[in-house]
Amino acid sequence: MDKKAVSLLSTIHNPIMIEVPSYKNEVRKKPKVVMEYNNTMGGVDRMDQHLTNYPVTKKRGKKYYKKIFFHLSDVSLWNAFVLYQKHGGKYSHLNFRLDIIDRLIERHGTVNEKKGRPGILPNPIRLTERHFLEVIGPSDKKLRPTRQCFVCCSKRNDFGKRVRKETRYFCPDCDVGLCLSPCFKIYHTKAEF
Ligand SMILES: [Zn+2]
Ligand SMILES: [Zn+2]
Repeated sequence: MDKKAVSLLSTIHNPIMIEVPSYKNEVRKKPKVVMEYNNTMGGVDRMDQHLTNYPVTKKRGKKYYKKIFFHLSDVSLWNAFVLYQKHGGKYSHLNFRLDIIDRLIERHGTVNEKKGRPGILPNPIRLTERHFLEVIGPSDKKLRPTRQCFVCCSKRNDFGKRVRKETRYFCPDCDVGLCLSPCFKIYHTKAEF
């Protein structure tokens, strides 16, 4: 009992009562689940508080089971972050999450047809897969069509204007135009350029 009867649902507790000394030198019995909840709820509250910064589950229109899935993945990420910090990790929670996202995409990502044009972020799996340069094939309109080089076009010149450089080569897996040299190598080996 609190002010009213309180129900608790637990994945690990049996309905066991334990004896607890109270302040008037008397021994009282309390459910073990309540004691452990009181001792550890600080951590749960802290987690809830931190996870509100990344409201993956607040997005509307998601199916409830997807929300549960994303909440569980959020909780796992937070637990991993707590362990990481205990072992002297220096990243902030944000950078920790961003880094995990990059690693997950590197390992499990697939190329999205619409991605990979200049101005859009390069796809992270380019660094781990084997990609080969190809000449952009002739189209109905042009015999020797060109595209903008992703690497050159991500730079700005001395006047702060976006560099424009056309190339006849591209990576079919990433679907981006790239100069034969040095941009193809730069794009597929450097995380940032
Ligand atoms: Zn280039
Ligand atoms: Zn590629």
